[in-house]
Amino acid sequence: MYNDENIQKMETLKGNAVLVDGVVLNGPIINSNCGEKFIEDVYQILMTELVYKASDTNQKVCEWQDPEPLKELLDLNLKDFGEPHQKLLQLCKNAIKYSVKTSHPRFFNQLYAGMDHYSLAARFITEALNPSVYTYEVSPVFILTEEAILKKMIEFLGWEEGDGIFSPGGSISNMYALNLARYKYCPDIKEKGLSNTPRLVMFTSEECHYSMKKAAAFLGIGTENVYLVKTDDRGKMIPEELESQVQQAKKEGSVPFLVSGTAGTTVLGAFDPLDEIADVCEKHKLWFHVDASWGGSALMSRKYRKLLHGIHRADSVAWNPHKMLMAGIQCCALLVKDNSGLLTRCHSAEASYLFQQDKFYDVRFDTGDKSIQCSRRADAFKFWMMWKALGTTGLEERINRALALSRYLANEIKKRDGFELLWEPEYANTCFWYIPPAFRNMEKGVEYWIKFSKVAPTIKERMMKKGSMMIGYQPHRDKVNFFRHIVISPQVSRKDMDFVLDEIERLGRDL
Ligand SMILES: *Cc1c(COP(=O)(O)O)cnc(C)c1O
Repeated sequence: MYNDENIQKMETLKGNAVLVDGVVLNGPIINSNCGEKFIEDVYQILMTELVYKASDTNQKVCEWQDPEPLKELLDLNLKDFGEPHQKLLQLCKNAIKYSVKTSHPRFFNQLYAGMDHYSLAARFITEALNPSVYTYEVSPVFILTEEAILKKMIEFLGWEEGDGIFSPGGSISNMYALNLARYKYCPDIKEKGLSNTPRLVMFTSEECHYSMKKAAAFLGIGTENVYLVKTDDRGKMIPEELESQVQQAKKEGSVPFLVSGTAGTTVLGAFDPLDEIADVCEKHKLWFHVDASWGGSALMSRKYRKLLHGIHRADSVAWNPHKMLMAGIQCCALLVKDNSGLLTRCHSAEASYLFQQDKFYDVRFDTGDKSIQCSRRADAFKFWMMWKALGTTGLEERINRALALSRYLANEIKKRDGFELLWEPEYANTCFWYIPPAFRNMEKGVEYWIKFSKVAPTIKERMMKKGSMMIGYQPHRDKVNFFRHIVISPQVSRKDMDFVLDEIERLGRDL
């Protein structure tokens, strides 16, 4: 672990200093003042390498390396003694160089992209302050900004009142929702555990996010008790199927407790018919959760908020401003309609060293006990800062622009030979095939599809090795691998959409 020779040298360096417990205490630890200069220098690198270059399409999106050579390039070895300033700056430059530039205008790979400058600046502040958002005494500003942002988000859901918490992701928000719903049905569960509960079952669509399964496994609900409701050919849950599945489950003696609708599915960007799902929930008295991790941001657009018609009837909603709204990872809210303290009752543990009830201020502002965490990041602050900077109309404009671009791309796909649009985009997901010339007159038998399924992965490999752009692909049900293009960033324009199609043709026409 240690190199003894090095340690010996370090001991002799201490010379005649007065030691306490073998440690020199009459000043700060050696080298600590170099850190300030280091931050300044790294800040300059950040500004030139990332902020100024964020919209420069002449830069590469990624600098692909296989893991073994990358290990060498990064100089991963950790040593007994610290490295010099210039060497450390080089390590930082390397970290930037070999990382994917998710703010690049041609990064279409994920459900997040782009750089919001105000949010980024706010992140610098929270990183530097290093607060933990559990009590008002250590995070007065961040407790209040979180409260203000949650209130505003709740307003956009169309709720009169509500509660909420920022969590480390949509997956975690979904888990919160399941836990809350179950607690509402079996309030004993917090103390007694699972041994007393009936077989609880939940319903979501076959297009739901995989976090539903994870949450069910993690909470002891069991993945087999997640009933997947059929969707239509657009990927939307069929309410009649939900109704009959709920009835079937009841007949089998299990106890339905929750339905999760998805507003903006991950692959297709489809929106479940929330209002009709709410009817089923109301009829059977089931908790209605909406996973709007991806699509929730459409609520801010007067043009597109109708996609989420019925969300005002939900009991809980997961909404990630870090996706479409570009607040920066992570920024995810779980919103709960109950305003009687359900969130607190379900999760609190009343730690007496943190949440003392005899504090000198109003302890209702110590909101941390709503959380399943102890330390918690100040994720709401960057969203608050961004909203301050852009205003509601600025955020709305972003969504409208992204969706207009996805429609432009879809139309270009329809016009071009060799491209096939698989679904009209409902949101910012554009799913399509590129069919290289050699495939165009082939008979579509089994062999064709096996061969054709390799087209998208090969083009993906080529685009990454070239560094020209990044787009995701996947198979889906009866459709073999297709591209799923996501547009989010306002730094992206029509010519980037044209580039995508031109570049796919360039990379794949010989296949
Ligand atoms: C992205 C996504 C999630 C997960 O959110 P994370 O913040 O990545 O955990 C959940 N549901 C849907 C529909 C998503 O698109």
